[in-house]
Amino acid sequence: MSAHKLIFLNQKGGVGKTTTCVNLGSALAALGYKVLLVDFDSQGNLTGSVSGDSRKPTCYDAVVGKVSVQEAIQVTPFQNLFVIPGSLDLAGLNVELVDEENREFFLSKALDPISSDFDFIFVDCPPSLGLITMNAMCWAEKVIIPMQCEYFAMEGLNLLMRTISSVRKTLNPNLEILGVLFTMYTKRAKLNNEVVEDISNFFPDLVFKTIIPRSIRLAEAPSYGMPINIYDASNSGTKAYHSLAKEVLDRVN
Ligand code: ADP
Ligand code: MG
Repeated sequence: MSAHKLIFLNQKGGVGKTTTCVNLGSALAALGYKVLLVDFDSQGNLTGSVSGDSRKPTCYDAVVGKVSVQEAIQVTPFQNLFVIPGSLDLAGLNVELVDEENREFFLSKALDPISSDFDFIFVDCPPSLGLITMNAMCWAEKVIIPMQCEYFAMEGLNLLMRTISSVRKTLNPNLEILGVLFTMYTKRAKLNNEVVEDISNFFPDLVFKTIIPRSIRLAEAPSYGMPINIYDASNSGTKAYHSLAKEVLDRVN
């Protein structure tokens, strides 16, 4: 069996891509699935969030063929959870790959040998639609779109959907949107409620029922190098990511 290959995509930064990648991954790991998180962002936030070490061979090293992908995989302190670290080197990759043949398929080439070693492989993308993200879109089967419940959300979503559908028509016919996920939700904010309602009405089948609440504990956990379910098992974020994991299992099966 090949792993479910998911990416977390939004050209906007600060919408909860990395937080979702880490905590959905950890929720699935806690349910007994073997999960690999790949940090494909030069900021390396995902790596630190699960106590990964970005000095070791990184995603960059594996993508440019400096090391085998197996050499880049690290065991985390958390059961069933593995990571390929990100590093600043990735910042130059967009430019380095531009003149290469098959420049959109370097990530696929790097990750293909380990496809059947995990139940889930997640790639955390940078906040842009450049060549790095294109590599992620060419490798993946499913996209999760995390978004904040704010005014320009719809515009951003439309651009993202057009991009995904053009990739599907050209480079990767297997690419599908698994779902749109609302993050950092505050019940009391009227605007949050309106945005959730509008987008849910517009894309009834795409929006996940689970909504991730705003929680200070979710923002703190990365600085301790822990996913939320380890850092604070009774937190609202732990419950939300567990419920998202159940929905994701339903949708992929
Ligand atoms: P992205 O990867 O899209 O740039 P992040 O996942 O890094 O976004 O989130 C941006 C910031 O918001 C981070 O500091 C993160 O800790 C914080 N954050 C993410 N989700 C939540 C949440 N549900 N509640 C509170 N803070 C959050
Ligand atoms: Mg991020």
